Amino acid sequence: MDVTHILDGLNERQREAVTAPIGNTLVLAGAGSGKTRVLVHRIAWLIEAEGVSPHGVLAVTFTNKAASEMRQRIEALLNLTVRAMWVGTFHGIAHRLLRMHWREAALPQNFQILDADDQLRLVKRVMRSLDIDEQKWPARQATGFINTQKDEGRCAREVVAGDDLFRITHKRIYESYEELCNQGGLVDFAELLLRSHELWLNREDLLAHYQNRFQHLLVDEFQDTNTLQNAWLRVLAGKTGRVMAVGDDDQSIYGWRGARIENIHQYSQDFDAVQTIRLEQNYRSTGNILKAANVLISHNADRLGKELWTDDDDGEPIKLYSAYNDLDEARFIADRAQRHIEDSGSPQEVAVLYRSNAQSRVLEEAMLRAQIPYRIYGGQRFFERAEIKNALAYMRLMHDRHSDPAFERVVNTPARGIGDKTLEAIRAEARERSVSLWQACKEAIAEGKFNGRVTGAVQAFLKLVDDLGAATNELSLHELADFVIHASGLMEFHARERGERGLARKENLEELVSACRQFTGELVFPVAETLPDGSEARSDVSILEEFLDQVALDAGEQQTETGPALQMMTLHSAKGLEFPLVFLSGMEEGLFPHRMSVEEPGRLEEERRLCYVGMTRAMRELVITFAETRRLHGNDTYNRPSRFIMELPTQHLEEIRLGGAVRRPYGAPEASKRSASLFEETAAGFRLGQRVGHAKFGEGVVLQCEGSGDRARIQVNFAGVGAKWLMLGYANLQTLD
Ligand code: ATP
Ligand code: MG
Repeated sequence: MDVTHILDGLNERQREAVTAPIGNTLVLAGAGSGKTRVLVHRIAWLIEAEGVSPHGVLAVTFTNKAASEMRQRIEALLNLTVRAMWVGTFHGIAHRLLRMHWREAALPQNFQILDADDQLRLVKRVMRSLDIDEQKWPARQATGFINTQKDEGRCAREVVAGDDLFRITHKRIYESYEELCNQGGLVDFAELLLRSHELWLNREDLLAHYQNRFQHLLVDEFQDTNTLQNAWLRVLAGKTGRVMAVGDDDQSIYGWRGARIENIHQYSQDFDAVQTIRLEQNYRSTGNILKAANVLISHNADRLGKELWTDDDDGEPIKLYSAYNDLDEARFIADRAQRHIEDSGSPQEVAVLYRSNAQSRVLEEAMLRAQIPYRIYGGQRFFERAEIKNALAYMRLMHDRHSDPAFERVVNTPARGIGDKTLEAIRAEARERSVSLWQACKEAIAEGKFNGRVTGAVQAFLKLVDDLGAATNELSLHELADFVIHASGLMEFHARERGERGLARKENLEELVSACRQFTGELVFPVAETLPDGSEARSDVSILEEFLDQVALDAGEQQTETGPALQMMTLHSAKGLEFPLVFLSGMEEGLFPHRMSVEEPGRLEEERRLCYVGMTRAMRELVITFAETRRLHGNDTYNRPSRFIMELPTQHLEEIRLGGAVRRPYGAPEASKRSASLFEETAAGFRLGQRVGHAKFGEGVVLQCEGSGDRARIQVNFAGVGAKWLMLGYANLQTLD
């Protein structure tokens, strides 16, 4: 067979990696050097040139989206479909294993995945039942503690607390949380991996089977694996498995979530006879972008060190825009994006990146105003919206009455007279009897424990869910979703919310029905595994259950894809992606690098790597913006430009001034001077009673001014729309007399 087409479009070093002898290989290379491309071609090479069965390949990527892209690219190269191959995230793969081997993993068959949001609620519940003060011990912190322990492979009893009050308290929460999870068959993300790792360790037969099956393991973004993932991989690889890991130590950005950059440093010791291959040519970015990114990352001390060069020309300088405030920044970005979209016709070529999700709302509003189609990854994700979670909770209960998280969520949504006090009483009954909330209701009612009103309300809810279950038995997934949304009263409840919001919620619920219609299940993984003794391990999940699982696993990435759109996401979610035009917004001290990181050198370096990741997403054009004042979490902050901007060599930069003038950039102090003078000129131009014109509201008269500095406001009585308060800084008022 002619296999040379697999090597087309690869440089010499990449070919070396793709055709490396079967063994353990580490591809260590900078951003945009073709690591992911090498992985895809390697798999095609293994299958076509080395005669490996797709059945024997397991590939791990960082997101489900990346996994499905990888599969598509391999199939395109091979010109055939390879469903037998396992491609997924660590969590997705662990989940699939547990669905097939739930018995061996000591889980109930219908165990439920807890997404981050469910997990936090559950931790809060645990803390309430333990009487632990949430003011003193934030639930988020407790959740973080639990996840860290799990990522390190420790269950609750293995946590060493000593006489440290912090650890003692958190250990107690963890223990109680663990008990509740076991009781309710609830599995959080970290637990998926922990359990499947234990499966390896406890069941030699299963391990041997999968070791025998997966002789070729490939891992993208290896620098962000945590302790448990690395251990899982090493156990599975055993003596016979061959691992190709690709990664970039300069792009390790999940240290705060337990990723261990050491895994990449130690790869050569952890695996036998490792061949290391370095790629140095970058194919993604222009010279200006790449050179500036190289200089930035050179400020980090702890690096394996790489040189990255490009054949490409220098291209446009990196643009720098100093915004007056966050609204001005958002408007500027929308303007620029719009110009690009008008020229190229492709909104999907543009990405707006930010450090924190809280920044997205203002940006989102600017996109709406400019009528630019956009999509947000992360942040308020489709499947995390309240109305969607409510609908999913009903669907969950129909599948499993004993799901406490689902019960809690909708027992009083829409309102049916089951208040906090009643719910607390139900919880107490459940605790006492060690049963689910559902079961507790049934028992308590039978024993006449609730008064007449409560009994009536609770019974009505139980009956509703039972009736829904009975009525939808024969329906397909989307028919079921449609039925449930209406019959539960959710649609009416949400549609009644006022104005735009009600409308949006209604549309989202409709969107859920179409998401169900599109869902086919079994796409990414086979559902049965024939074991050596001839028996078959089946995952036997209903389409409803698989859908609910998929939603939980995707939490954090999946968006309903509708048409081309500009992409907005956090820097963390941008890993591995590339876009012709990238905006890096909110480049301010305190925000990026994040306030919490500047004190610790290790964390500051991780922030710098994050900046490096952000910059290297850009192919043709990179625009960096920062705002001198910003309203975040209800407070105004005054920030200096990020130190990362100062670290970029000026020869690759160009500052954009309002009105289109450009000049070379300067340091921070001058930046604040500029905005101050901008403000004074504007302020000085107005007096009370003056006639002014506004682009949208028309003509009016100045009534009063209020505040000073960056937050000065002006009230104008417009002929058409009456009196309005405007931000003086960018209301853009024209003086008319
Ligand atoms: P990151 O570190 O950001 O994950 P990466 O090393 O995985 O980057 P890829 O995404 O695989 O890099 O490649 C970056 C871009 O360069 C892609 O558009 C890819 O198609 C292109 N590319 C890689 N190698 C070549 C090549 N030999 N010829 C042409 N284009 C290439
Ligand atoms: Mg990549």
